[in-house]
Amino acid sequence: MSLFPPTGRYLRRSTLLFLALIACGAVGSALGWGVLSRPYQSPGELAALVERAVNAGDAVTMESLTAPGIKNDYRWVREWRQSGNFKRWKAGPVSVYGSQRTLLHISRLQVVQSTYDHLYEIAGPSSRPRLGREIPEDELVGCRVTDHRITVTFDPARRHVTVTDRAKVTTHADRWSVALVRLNAQFSVSQVTLDDAPTPWRQFGGFIMVPKPAAQTATLTLAYEATLPKTGETFMSDKEAALTAYWYAHTGRLPATSEIEVRAPQDWLAIAPGERQSGSSSAVRWKNLLPVSFITVAAGKYSVTRREVGGVTLNAYLLRPSATRAREVLDQAQSAIEVFGHQIAPFPYSGYTVVESDVFPAALEAYSFTLCGRETLPGVVVHEVSHTWWGGLVPNTYTRSMWNEAFATYSEGLHRRLAGAGPDDPTGHGARTAGNTLPTALPLSKVTDAMNSTHAAIGYTKGAHVLGQLERMIGPERMRATLRAFVTRHRCGDAADWSDFQAAVTATNGTEWAECLDAWLNDPRIPSFGLSGVRVSRSGSGYEITGTVTVEPVGFWALIPLTAGGNEPTSTAVLCRGSATPFRFQSRAAPEVVTLDPDGVVLRTGGDVRAALTDK
Ligand SMILES: [Zn+2]
Repeated sequence: MSLFPPTGRYLRRSTLLFLALIACGAVGSALGWGVLSRPYQSPGELAALVERAVNAGDAVTMESLTAPGIKNDYRWVREWRQSGNFKRWKAGPVSVYGSQRTLLHISRLQVVQSTYDHLYEIAGPSSRPRLGREIPEDELVGCRVTDHRITVTFDPARRHVTVTDRAKVTTHADRWSVALVRLNAQFSVSQVTLDDAPTPWRQFGGFIMVPKPAAQTATLTLAYEATLPKTGETFMSDKEAALTAYWYAHTGRLPATSEIEVRAPQDWLAIAPGERQSGSSSAVRWKNLLPVSFITVAAGKYSVTRREVGGVTLNAYLLRPSATRAREVLDQAQSAIEVFGHQIAPFPYSGYTVVESDVFPAALEAYSFTLCGRETLPGVVVHEVSHTWWGGLVPNTYTRSMWNEAFATYSEGLHRRLAGAGPDDPTGHGARTAGNTLPTALPLSKVTDAMNSTHAAIGYTKGAHVLGQLERMIGPERMRATLRAFVTRHRCGDAADWSDFQAAVTATNGTEWAECLDAWLNDPRIPSFGLSGVRVSRSGSGYEITGTVTVEPVGFWALIPLTAGGNEPTSTAVLCRGSATPFRFQSRAAPEVVTLDPDGVVLRTGGDVRAALTDK
């Protein structure tokens, strides 16, 4: 996903509604407490209170509705309004087939890689039900989806889409008597079968529940439909349509393969992930053998420009024919595929398509193609192509972190450098400036929401700088070897996280590097580096400079450049392994001052760091 430049669109919308929402929050909070003072007796009444508290952003009331001894993280209740999606949440109870349990869901229309629907157990006595433990999205209930056979029919005249998803599920021997999948709450399910036989089923918000199949694998088929809005991230207009966010049955957004047939009007072209199979232009089938976490379908009245390069067919699908724009887009895609295919791992598809949209407000990776808002082209193409590696070959669910956005942003700089279009600095732009401005609310390993500006600043910008700091420490060749190892060590079908990359760092560079990213990933702060005890002394015909590089807080590793200034400046670099590090280097001329990180290439806080020298 790339939000740039349309982030401003969300931020402006956020700003406009900010005061109104604060007011709503205050009123809602008061209402929540007011209602609480009366006894409530049923899961339905609990759900009504929960719905009111969530829509008011009132985490305090959520705590008060929670059973004693249960520790849930309600940060999302305070944060959801920061993600630019102001759709209301709806809560409701649902009883679990084959057990006495009742669950409580909180759902709304979701956009991709952002907030998500929540599910809680209900605890406490039946006369006074309370919120029990949250069942996190990555904790599967009864089954996992591994493959989709999907038919999508777009009817632009009615702005209507119908979908059939034949999802292959593997069942789990867990404590659940049911199998649960997620599907965006905007879709209305009309039929559910298990292995083509009728089954009881329930749709509640963004969830579908069926009794758990007895066999280890089964085909769960859902038929559903929606009338789509003209704008947003899943939309339909009279000339284009896209399905982007949780429009298929999924379990914890875990990777799945897919075969998708898209039916659209005769004069439309449709695209889905993977390789194009047989089919006419109005009913085309796409097969993706690479399991991925996010599946996108787009269709529209595109004008096509094609280019064949090194066995890969590149396409530009533009809404208005423009040879210049098509060339710009294809140049970017070609260059990115060549650089990343050569440096990291072979490109896994026979083609790549850049799809232009007048409606989609950002740019979204689909691994064999990308859906790009018109304003994002052509600048966003390299970022989106890099997601074929960071999200495609190595998938990410965004339920635990958005590590792959760090890699995609870092890859923009890598491409700039390797394509000869930018400076030879691993992060490409001022790390120190970033260090003084980045938010420190959350650690890099815990940000998940690409639409939340704080999460995004940490996940994209800080993440890219942290990878740049690693490249400074181990050098560009070993950095590329580490990236290659991250891809080749990945087990197809799994999703990855930062810990898998840390394992690749150790495997490639040695166990002495095992902790080099720990603080950068898990400590939300950005360190400051200093100098202490700096001395100069005569050494042969020149001078020897000694001292210590300090780090606060301890734990952060970095390669620290030092320059001894004078008539003939001399430089060195000190690898700081998370604690005070002594250094010693030579200078031919008499130095007057030692400067730490004079070019601002270290991700750090603080200003200039200098030590005036005195003869020992
Ligand atoms: Zn991205």
